[in-house]
Amino acid sequence: MHIPDTMRVPRFLGDGRIVFIDKPVPQPGPGQLLLAVKANALCGSERGQFYGGSSVTPGHEAAGVVVAAGSDTSTPIGALGPVFLMDFCGRCRSCLAGATNQCFAKRADYGFTHDGGYAPFELVNENVFFAADADLTGPEAILLLDIMGTGGHCLDRLRLVRPEIESLLITGAGPIGLGVLVMAKIMLGEAVPVAITDVVPYRLDLASSLGGLPIDIAHASLPDALDSLGIPRPDAAVDTSGREAARRAAIDVLAQRGVLVCVGHGESVTLDVSRDLISTERAVVGSEYFRYDEFPRNLALLRKHRAYLSRIVTHRFPVAEIQRAFEVFFAGNTGEVVVEQ
Ligand SMILES: [Zn+2]
Ligand SMILES: [Zn+2]
Repeated sequence: MHIPDTMRVPRFLGDGRIVFIDKPVPQPGPGQLLLAVKANALCGSERGQFYGGSSVTPGHEAAGVVVAAGSDTSTPIGALGPVFLMDFCGRCRSCLAGATNQCFAKRADYGFTHDGGYAPFELVNENVFFAADADLTGPEAILLLDIMGTGGHCLDRLRLVRPEIESLLITGAGPIGLGVLVMAKIMLGEAVPVAITDVVPYRLDLASSLGGLPIDIAHASLPDALDSLGIPRPDAAVDTSGREAARRAAIDVLAQRGVLVCVGHGESVTLDVSRDLISTERAVVGSEYFRYDEFPRNLALLRKHRAYLSRIVTHRFPVAEIQRAFEVFFAGNTGEVVVEQ
């Protein structure tokens, strides 16, 4: 492939404005790969960059094809795969235990501290690239990130505390909530009922079509809705909304030994420790992104459930229309939104 010297990249100015500027195409140094980006998904965590601006090129849910490799690398040119957000050191105690999402010496968050995947080319350290199947499309490969990766990791965290789960509540049906939903259907089994709340009818309809039991909390109380679904006391809950009210409501309906996993950043929550935790032996657990070593399992699941999982991607835009893509995404009537190069 011919690699140009410069590229057009979106610059996030702030106040919800994106323009295009020229940047040099970086060259891979030792241990680095240059990817031709195929696709990058929009994420709610980019709200700060869209409204506050960004000095780097955003984009942390990218998949691309290796087009150049520096010395000391072994990934073949032409390999296709996603980029792991966190550039982990590989040597600290967390990394040696496999917890690469909790590296003590993290070098970068691609798309936040270093240029990310909304550019035509992205330079990454080789350790964060995961070579997937060459026949995957860009939008399919990025399902391995926030959708399957973050969604699956929540359930792993949950099952550390509570191995047998017979009912699940998800608060928030944005891309992460939908990701937890599809991974729950796959990992916990079709038979486990998964209730999912939101206030946006579009998202609730999508959740329903993916096998979730939708609850419109703009028009129903959570206990009443769970009651009518036959799961008044779910075994577990995952909060993807980041909202205190949602977390509090989830704890209040959890069964004894219930577990709340918090994955959506945002507000706080106040615990009545005796009632919420001690006497009921409930737990509140955090879950951040996922571990690099979860990629192979998720790739195997993606191969098996490709069509089902792909239904999460509801909107695709060429990168030239990234401004519109963000406006549509933040208006709320979408599942996963992807821009393609
Ligand atoms: Zn994200
Ligand atoms: Zn480390």
